[in-house]
Amino acid sequence: MARSYVGEARRRGLGPRRERIRPIIERLARAHADAAIALRFETDIELLISVMLSAQTTDVNVNRVTEQLFRKYRRPEDYLAVPADELERDIYATGFYRQKTRSIRGSMRVLLEEFDGRVPRRLDELLRLPGVARKTANVVAAELGHAQGIVVDTHVRRLSQRLGLTRNDDPVKIERDLQRIVPRGDWGRFPHLLIWHGRRICDARQPRCADCVLFDLCPAARLT
Ligand code: SF4
Repeated sequence: MARSYVGEARRRGLGPRRERIRPIIERLARAHADAAIALRFETDIELLISVMLSAQTTDVNVNRVTEQLFRKYRRPEDYLAVPADELERDIYATGFYRQKTRSIRGSMRVLLEEFDGRVPRRLDELLRLPGVARKTANVVAAELGHAQGIVVDTHVRRLSQRLGLTRNDDPVKIERDLQRIVPRGDWGRFPHLLIWHGRRICDARQPRCADCVLFDLCPAARLT
């Protein structure tokens, strides 16, 4: 279990997380007005493929690969029209290319067979696609304007813990804790705000607390 800052927030008299969450969101939204998904895509299919490829690699790397990929593969059928090893070569640079190829081809097949070749909006339907786990489904649903959960990646986990919004370490439990306090209308943008704040200010090893807009709301704040 990670060190809990929930109790520390109480000791420092910062107020309950339910009350801190709104100013946290407002200040982050002002500080990171440009916070958005870093993957590049134009269609729903491209979004789904990009998110699937982004497992275990950087968004920059995915964008580099998809720039070529999306010229060659436009519809779900295109991913099934080539031999598997050709698609493997085309996505090789994103890593785990065999597994990703299996997931992509399996997902495209299900899209064609069950969803008329379109990307579904509902989380339970997205989760029926092979290789699509909760995080991928949440990212895709949120980007399509139908957030039904809160994406928890490494930044969201670290910042939620430091801000004393959760005592948990398990992403599913963290998501549940966040769903209880983050207003429903903010489920889509909240992870982006934490991710960008995590990248720019609240670094894993060296958080820049002195430059942080959340300094007086954060139980992990320290002046170094
Ligand atoms: S005050 Fe420090 S620990 Fe808290 S969110 Fe800001 S940078 Fe992170």
